[in-house]
Amino acid sequence: EDKLEVIKNHIKSYSDFPKKGILFWDIFSVLQKPDIFRILKEVLIETVKTIQPPVECVAALDARGFFVWTNHIFRTEHSFRANKEKGKTTGKSDFLFLLLGIRSRFTAHFYNGKGGKEDIVEIQVDSIRKGQRVLIVDDLLATGGSLKGACELIKQLGGDIAMCLVVMELEELEGRKKVSTSVTSLIKL
Ligand code: 5GP
Repeated sequence: EDKLEVIKNHIKSYSDFPKKGILFWDIFSVLQKPDIFRILKEVLIETVKTIQPPVECVAALDARGFFVWTNHIFRTEHSFRANKEKGKTTGKSDFLFLLLGIRSRFTAHFYNGKGGKEDIVEIQVDSIRKGQRVLIVDDLLATGGSLKGACELIKQLGGDIAMCLVVMELEELEGRKKVSTSVTSLIKL
C-alpha cells in the first residue's frame, strides 16, 4: 500500500471542532501510532531531501508543526551531513530548527480565516541569517493565513524560503493561493 494512503487512513477527523461547522483533521491520531508516525517521518525526510540546494533551517509553526517536525529534524540533519561528505552541499555548517510563535521580539500579524480569529506568528529577530534557505513546516494548510504570515516574517528577516511543507492540505479552501512561495502538501483532504 502507498505510504501516503496508509498515513491518510490513520488521520482522524472531528466534526464541529473547535466550533460548529468546522471539520477538524487530527494529526495526533498518526503521532500516537509509532508504526504510522515512522512512515510519516520517512516521507518527510524523503521530501526534504529533494530540495536543492538543501535547506539550512527549518521553521515550524506553533504548535502542531513542532510535534510533527521536532523528531524528524534530528534524522534530517544526519542525512544533510551525509550529503556534505559527498560534497553535494555548499559549505554551510549550521542547521537551525526554529519554532515560530514561541518568542516575542518580532511579530507579524495575520488573519486566520478558518478559525475566524486573528492570530500572530512571532520569531526571534536575529534567528535567521540573510539569504539563509528556510523550510517552513506545519501540520495542515487551511486558508493559508498561517503560512502566509510565516513566509512574510521569514522574508522580512532576510530569509530565503526554499519550500513550505505541510502534511495535510484542505484543497477546497485554496489556501495555497495566498502563499507566495511554493507549497508542497503530502495529503490532500
Ligand atoms: P490556516 O492559517 O491555513 O487557515 O490554518 C492552518 C493552521 O491552523 C495550522 O497551523 C493548523 O495547525 C491549524 N488548523 C486549522 N484547521 C485545522 C484542522 O482541521 N486540523 C489541524 N490539525 N489543524 C488545523
